[in-house]
Amino acid sequence: MPSVTSESLAASKRPQPRPGVMAIAAYVGGRSKAEPGQRTIKLSSNESGIGPSPKAIAAFKAVGDSLYRYPDGSAHDLRLAIGAHFDIPADRIVCGNGSDELIHLLTGAYAGPGDEVLYSEHGFLVYPISAQAVGATPVKAPERDLRTDVDALLAAVTPATRIVYLANPNNPTGTYIPAEEVARLHAGLPPDVLLVLDAAYAEFVNASDYEAGFRLVEKAENVVMLRTFSKLYGLAALRLGWAYCPPAVADVLNRLRGPFNVSSAAQAAGIASLADRDFLERARQHNETWRLWLTNRLTQLGLDVTPSVANFLLVRFPDEAGRTAAEADAFLTARGILLRRVSAYGLPAHLRISIGLGEECEAAASAIADFLRGDHG
Ligand code: PLP
Repeated sequence: MPSVTSESLAASKRPQPRPGVMAIAAYVGGRSKAEPGQRTIKLSSNESGIGPSPKAIAAFKAVGDSLYRYPDGSAHDLRLAIGAHFDIPADRIVCGNGSDELIHLLTGAYAGPGDEVLYSEHGFLVYPISAQAVGATPVKAPERDLRTDVDALLAAVTPATRIVYLANPNNPTGTYIPAEEVARLHAGLPPDVLLVLDAAYAEFVNASDYEAGFRLVEKAENVVMLRTFSKLYGLAALRLGWAYCPPAVADVLNRLRGPFNVSSAAQAAGIASLADRDFLERARQHNETWRLWLTNRLTQLGLDVTPSVANFLLVRFPDEAGRTAAEADAFLTARGILLRRVSAYGLPAHLRISIGLGEECEAAASAIADFLRGDHG
């Protein structure tokens, strides 16, 4: 067996990543499989409760006949479809391999060593990861009552701040800030700081004072809105997101992105799912119905549920031994029900539960009731 000294000598000769890379805590996604042989109820990744439109599945399958062809590198037809759907110019849309890719591209384009990337305390973890990946410093601003605090964000801006990421609604809290608060945040930022409005869950919001970001992108040169097909559209496996940008930012992203960063299957399914408006409305309604049902049920069980406008709930478990979030998670996992622990988001006493099919919500609520009753048989 090689000695420790020769091992460390060998390691020092290996290619070394840039400083800071090994400090990144790799993103851990929601678990997808229970114990072998057990039925899995996966409520751990905020996917669509009812899945994709059958028309999107058919479009995806049809691409199988031309797998040897490269995708359209400019995602022309998809951008036209998104532009027509949302009534925005297609040349200001850049598509990505999930909005995750666009977050990494934006951070790499606008921040680097010595720069700061600002986000809200319980904000989406890919923001700090993308900052660390390029040697920039992630900076967290405190939240108030699990909600973005615009004053705290503005107070954390320094001359080194290059990007502010705002998930609105936020994951994992499910809370949002109204359009006028977002406008106040933008108004308080220097014009050379990029404000990225990540509206991954925008379609689920039913609040008259909410705006995903279109208006600010239209009038400002330093605002980008990110959207995804992974949530309402139910296409998480295909990895498809898009950015609505000022022309100069679209130009930057188009220089940096891979030449064929969005697969043909994702482009085809994206176009088909946008066209199936009835299905999208059904998916929205489903979420609304079961989000309310599950909120009420878990509240009746005595749990503290953060009011959510998205397709998941953040639930606080008691601190008392036998009733904690960690114990609840183990109990539910043993029954094949997978929720999401959110300790990495600074919320060790909470679990996040996605809105699944109706019977999945019922099964999860009933298992949580058993757990709280101490019925661990
Ligand atoms: N932004 C937020 C706030 C999210 O919660 C997620 C996924 O969970 C994403 C972005 C990434 O989505 P995508 O699947 O498009 O990469």
